[in-house]
Amino acid sequence: MEKVDVAVIGAGVVGLFTGLELGSRGYTVAVIDKAQEPMTGVSSRSANVIHLIQPPFNSLKSRLCVEGNMLHRRLHKELGYRLIETRLLLAYTSRAKTPLAVLTAKLLPRLVPGGRVKTRILTGRTARDMEPGLSDRVQGAIEVRGYAIVDPASMAGALASRVRGYGELLLGSKVEAAEARGSRVILEAGGLRVSARLVVNAGGLESHVVAKMFGDSYTQEAWKGVMSIHPQPRLRSIVAPLEARRGETKGGGAIPQANGALLLGPNNAGPSRPGDYTYTSRDLEWLRSRFQPLLQEEIQEPVRVVVGHRPVAPGRDFLVEWGSTGRVIHLIGIESPGLTAAPALARMVASMARARGIL
Ligand SMILES: Cc1cc2nc3c(=O)[nH]c(=O)nc-3n(C[C@H](O)[C@H](O)[C@H](O)COP(=O)(O)OP(=O)(O)OC[C@H]3O[C@@H](n4cnc5c(N)ncnc54)[C@H](O)[C@@H]3O)c2cc1C
Repeated sequence: MEKVDVAVIGAGVVGLFTGLELGSRGYTVAVIDKAQEPMTGVSSRSANVIHLIQPPFNSLKSRLCVEGNMLHRRLHKELGYRLIETRLLLAYTSRAKTPLAVLTAKLLPRLVPGGRVKTRILTGRTARDMEPGLSDRVQGAIEVRGYAIVDPASMAGALASRVRGYGELLLGSKVEAAEARGSRVILEAGGLRVSARLVVNAGGLESHVVAKMFGDSYTQEAWKGVMSIHPQPRLRSIVAPLEARRGETKGGGAIPQANGALLLGPNNAGPSRPGDYTYTSRDLEWLRSRFQPLLQEEIQEPVRVVVGHRPVAPGRDFLVEWGSTGRVIHLIGIESPGLTAAPALARMVASMARARGIL
């Protein structure tokens, strides 16, 4: 039997950062995943953006997005994963949108938690000087600094090797049962038995299934998002159309990737079945028609299409809660911006455990 202070179920970005956070505080950790490699779940199908603006602004995901954004800037240097600084340009091609731009640029710094958002209104010409990939038809844009792009492969490698330094990364080990015994929980994971003082359920799309093993009931849906990857045009900034938002994003951005490609999306194709990676030509046409008007060069045919599923909880916010045994913390509904928020979620878990006196 493996005996540790903390067992984390799930070696996605959230589970790895959690293992790392607790390991760096001196606790022994085991991060367990059924997959043979780390970060093969939802985390392998993201747009790789370190966000800053996440509506609705009174949500937990919005607050943790801002905190995670700050933490990534320090952690990428300490841990050695690749992070490229960039900006978001909310661009528009119709002058009629200028009043909306002025209002949005004024409101965003007040609405986004933490007071870190700085906006600037750019004329079409200044925006093109900054981002030569913008179309001549762009009349203006709001610049939001403080965005970044990460390279997921370097992140997976860096986090996994640090976690191994603090304890165990048990891959190919599906957690199938959990039993509370006194001050410990015993997990059955692919022929292994792991005994822990604290369990963190970071099971992504299956965290509600994992919660059931602890007698806790949650509902979670898998919302499909389609992204197309194009060789050209190359951008320096994340470009998205300025639109009046009512709480949630509609279609992502034109996003430069760490490898130089351009990612469009993700769209929001609604609830789906996890594992259903199908998409239609309508998804691709919709993405192209959303971003082409803002870009000067023609968007080339996609070289790849990536479909992911966001784990969505009924309130459309992250749920970070103690389970009924008092020995497990469940992370449910870790949809976007979970990649951004992961180091902040890890800190939140650590302070919850400390506040209960478990660690
Ligand atoms: C299309 C799309 C684009 C996105 N873009 C962005 C973005 O640009 N920026 C951003 O901040 N966020 C983005 N997100 C959100 C982000 O990707 C997720 O919030 C984040 O990756 C969730 O990480 P996770 O560790 O919780 O889940 P996962 O990465 O899914 O990890 C969960 C792990 O648990 C394991 N597991 C499950 N059950 C068991 C079990 N019983 N035993 C052992 N292991 C188990 C799984 O194998 C999996 O590896 C995007 C999401 C989607 C779908």
